[in-house]
Amino acid sequence: METINKYGFPLEVCGRCHGTGNYSYNEVDGTTCYGCSGSGFKITKSAQKAYDAFLTAYKKAQRPQVKDLQVGDYIARKNVWCRVARIIKTDEVSSWSVVDGVERISTYFYEVEFDNSEVRTFPENQLVKRKATLDPTPFLASIKSPKKSKVQEED
Ligand SMILES: [Zn+2]
Repeated sequence: METINKYGFPLEVCGRCHGTGNYSYNEVDGTTCYGCSGSGFKITKSAQKAYDAFLTAYKKAQRPQVKDLQVGDYIARKNVWCRVARIIKTDEVSSWSVVDGVERISTYFYEVEFDNSEVRTFPENQLVKRKATLDPTPFLASIKSPKKSKVQEED
């Protein structure tokens, strides 16, 4: 029987709790198994690297810096998704450092205009919450890497 998680990554029965989701009791987590967070399943060993890469990329898609936003993105403002209508890099410096007595500019402010015409200014490296999905297909494809079918092209 093959089991997959909601993104399609293969799961196996957790070896620590044997699929029960429970292990020894402690005050903080009760009997919840550490190996599987109580689900009874965990990502298979061969898929773990691909799954970690997927989660990292997904998190990055959902928590971009302001300078990586694009027109049409939805970002959360006061728990409301607001569509980005315009992004402009200003010449206003938001942070700098002094290295060997020389002032070095590191970041600028960005002006972000939303669909409701509201304009807000953010430092370019500020993290925002973006509505994002990520296609797991390329990550899933990378799991079966040991042997790719060798097809020799001959003319
Ligand atoms: Zn477990």
